[in-house]
Amino acid sequence: MAVPKRKVTPSRRNNRRSHDALKAATHHECNNCGELKRPHHVCAKCGHYDDREVLEPTDA
Ligand SMILES: [Zn+2]
Repeated sequence: MAVPKRKVTPSRRNNRRSHDALKAATHHECNNCGELKRPHHVCAKCGHYDDREVLEPTDA
């Protein structure tokens, strides 16, 4: 909420910002090729998901 700067104590301001940090996206090894991929996503390297090929491998 917009409030004059001096009205918000450093403690309140910092408490508000305690949830602002960004977390790094998680990655997991592909079961097929071992490349790092995001969980619940088709592997970008080999096109596998759930131990079967669902996309043409795009080796670019
Ligand atoms: Zn893969």
